[in-house]
Amino acid sequence: MTADSPLALFGGPPVIDIPGPHFSWPPIGDSDIAAVAGQLTSAVSIPDRSGVIAELEDSVASFLGVRHVVTTCTGTAALHSMYAAAGIGPGDEVIVPALTFHATATPLFHLGARPVLADVDKHGQLDLDDAARRITPRTKAIVAVHLWGLPENMDDLLSFSARHNLMLLEDGSHAHGATWRGQLVGSFGRAAAFSMNGPKPLSAGEGGFVATDDTELYYRALMHGQYNKRCRREIPADHALAPYAVTGMGLKLRIHPLAAALAATQLPRLEGYLTGREAVAARMRKALREVPGIDVPHPPAHARSAWYALPLRYDPARLAGLPVERFIEAVHAEGAKEIDQPGSTRALGEHQLFRTPGFLLPGYADHQEPDTDSFANAQRVHGSTVKLPVWHREQDLHLADAYTAAIIKVTNHHKELVK
Ligand SMILES: *Cc1c(COP(=O)(O)O)cnc(C)c1O
Repeated sequence: MTADSPLALFGGPPVIDIPGPHFSWPPIGDSDIAAVAGQLTSAVSIPDRSGVIAELEDSVASFLGVRHVVTTCTGTAALHSMYAAAGIGPGDEVIVPALTFHATATPLFHLGARPVLADVDKHGQLDLDDAARRITPRTKAIVAVHLWGLPENMDDLLSFSARHNLMLLEDGSHAHGATWRGQLVGSFGRAAAFSMNGPKPLSAGEGGFVATDDTELYYRALMHGQYNKRCRREIPADHALAPYAVTGMGLKLRIHPLAAALAATQLPRLEGYLTGREAVAARMRKALREVPGIDVPHPPAHARSAWYALPLRYDPARLAGLPVERFIEAVHAEGAKEIDQPGSTRALGEHQLFRTPGFLLPGYADHQEPDTDSFANAQRVHGSTVKLPVWHREQDLHLADAYTAAIIKVTNHHKELVK
């Protein structure tokens, strides 16, 4: 077995000699090609809620069990529309987890509002004690991000937001189809925003959407990024927003119909992707459970993860101090090239934009730099996270097994790497 052979880094045979890429997303088959090609000959610009736009929004709404869905060109745009539609504005503070992709928070800078970082716990989930300390009279909302597809503890978030009278919003961009006590994430808060960017569980290539049960919020989301026809046709003529229908708030954030066609043809397959990923994630977690220095996630039995990735926690102290960078170099040499540390999903307080936004964005000259306390755990969690792709097809099981074998081989040989 290759696990006992010398490390590939030192000239031994690598565990994996299949050329990459080993993982690509979304899966593209004949039905996707037919759907996008068919869309090309039916409509490449849709200014109202018709055709593939209506089809996709209806199917996402019924999938999530929410009343309204508005599609957007990106997840970032969906977050922007959600915050604008929720009435977040100048001076308002919104509590966001200190560990997330930056677009969870950056649209707030374009509304004159302030993202307030709350630290995460050792599992990377929101630390609500820290969040409570950061509430001020200006705090309006708190955002749940279901990182890597693992749902946040929604019992705690619902009671926290009710107790402090905060609006609960969700960023479900990693977690299409994930559930907490059987309820889909994205259906808990006043509204949710999702990305449908290339690698996300539900992919449009580029795209996003806002989901909500709140009709007023829906109208305002239309006003934010879907001006004219959609606003004129969907907002009742006697509504106070109706006089603004032609211009809306002046932004145009519509999804491309070809992207909508891709997402619409992917959505019926999402459940299959998720059950496939669950089986593969369970197999990888089992293979790695006893491996020293590697901690696997243990979602509670009543939570279903979308397994956007398998995030492992790496502990160098249990591997003779082997730095994570050297560990990754060694698993890459074994051919497990798609194991990596999260790149852009990191502690927000490290980004220059969150430290001194005023240099780029007028109006933020007096911005208070987040104190290092507000993201110390986020940095620790990020610095020790190593993530793996989670395949969903039976025929890729050999890759999942090879990836865990590469990790096991390197940990078995860790002493040679620290010498
Ligand atoms: C991808 C992502 C976004 C942004 O979505 P885009 O479609 O890339 O604009 C926002 N939040 C999270 C958590 C994401 O992963």
